[in-house]
Amino acid sequence: MNEKMFCRQCEQTAMGKACTKSGVCGKNPEASALMDSIIYTLQGIGIYSDKLREKNKVYPDIDRFVIEALFTTVTNVNFDSEKLKSTLEMSFQHLGNIKKEFINIYPEYDISQLPEPALLKAEKFSRNDALKRAFSMEQTRT
Ligand code: SF4
Repeated sequence: MNEKMFCRQCEQTAMGKACTKSGVCGKNPEASALMDSIIYTLQGIGIYSDKLREKNKVYPDIDRFVIEALFTTVTNVNFDSEKLKSTLEMSFQHLGNIKKEFINIYPEYDISQLPEPALLKAEKFSRNDALKRAFSMEQTRT
C-alpha cells in the first residue's frame, strides 16, 4: 500500500476516484485517517445504541456527541488534527461506556456476533488500521 490516504468523501475527489496523496481540498493524510477512525468508532456506538433502544434505553449525551462528532467529519474547513484526535478519544470513551451498558442490559448476548465496529478495541487501534480499512472498503465497493 503506497498511498498515504484514501478519501472520496466529496465531489472534489481526485480524478473522480479518491484523493490518495493529499486532499484536493487541503485535507492531509492524518486528518483523513482520523476522520475515518471517528466514523468507524461512531458506527460501533450506533450498533449498541440501536440495540439498547429496543429496551427503551436512550443516552442523550451520547446521541448529542455522535451528531457533533459526525459534523467534524463533514466540514471541509476543519483539518485540525488535535481537535480530531480529541474527538476520536472521546469516541473511544463513549464506545467503551455504551458497550458496558449493553453488557449490563444484555448479559447473555454474544457480542462477538456484532458487526466489527462494535468490537473495536481502542488500545489496539492505529492509524495504519484506519488506512487499511479505508482501502479494503474500496475493494468491496468496486
Ligand atoms: S474531502 Fe478533500 S480529500 Fe476527501 S475527497 Fe474531497 S477533496 Fe479529496
